[in-house]
Amino acid sequence: MQSKITILDVNVDIVTMNNAIERIESFILAGHSRFIATANAEMVMLAQTDNELRDILNTADLVVPDGAGVVWAGRYLGAEVPERVAGYDLTQKLLERAARSGYTVFLLGAGPGIVNKAKNEAERKFPGIQIVGTQDGFFSPMDEPKIIEAIRSLQPDILLVALGVPKQEKWIYLNKNYLKVPVSIGVGGTFDVMAGTVRRAPLWMQKIHLEWFFRFLMQPSRFMRILRLPQFVIKVLAVKKVRQNNRDIL
Ligand code: UDP
Repeated sequence: MQSKITILDVNVDIVTMNNAIERIESFILAGHSRFIATANAEMVMLAQTDNELRDILNTADLVVPDGAGVVWAGRYLGAEVPERVAGYDLTQKLLERAARSGYTVFLLGAGPGIVNKAKNEAERKFPGIQIVGTQDGFFSPMDEPKIIEAIRSLQPDILLVALGVPKQEKWIYLNKNYLKVPVSIGVGGTFDVMAGTVRRAPLWMQKIHLEWFFRFLMQPSRFMRILRLPQFVIKVLAVKKVRQNNRDIL
């Protein structure tokens, strides 16, 4: 079976939530420095103009289909994308697994109060979880070497990086080999949701693929970013049309 689908030059893995968790667990056990990205339509659109981001995503060890847009595009382009693997849900499942299996976790990113609240919330929700350190995401370049050393010496099994797209992907790519953390994941606004400062869309809205609209209502400053969604749809439709035309010519 096909294992990846290329959506506007970004390779996305065709996985279920369970597949993703199993793969991540096998990365932890193998112990190399692996990088996981959660691709949504906004990220794929950004990768159209940011070649560095595109190349980084295409070297990632796992890119999950985070977002209704990416699931739709994958299916429209002919792949059997089984389900959406949202970054927030993936993180929660992984924290649950970490608590059960004794994997250690470091949280990097979001505001200082937020990342600590996210840690407290994880400890409440997943008793026994070992969060070995936290660091907010608004550090100066001068403090960065100290932070990197701290993470490296703590040797967590999982590093969750919430610096926003594409900063978090670039940061992980740049530092992963030195950090030697088995699994690093870019998790965007996950800590804000865990801390309770940003709400996720109600389930019924997620089910009808309107989570993006809810995020816009909650954070109207995201307006310009939301404009990338119709551009994404138009581009995917165009790709399929070109493919069909090429097939007709042949
Ligand atoms: N952030 C950070 N440092 C920065 C820029 C952003 O820690 O220099 C955090 C921000 O506080 C938020 C997260 O990164 O917690 C990005 O959230 P967003 O919902 O924008 O994620 P995205 O949509 O980019 O995945």
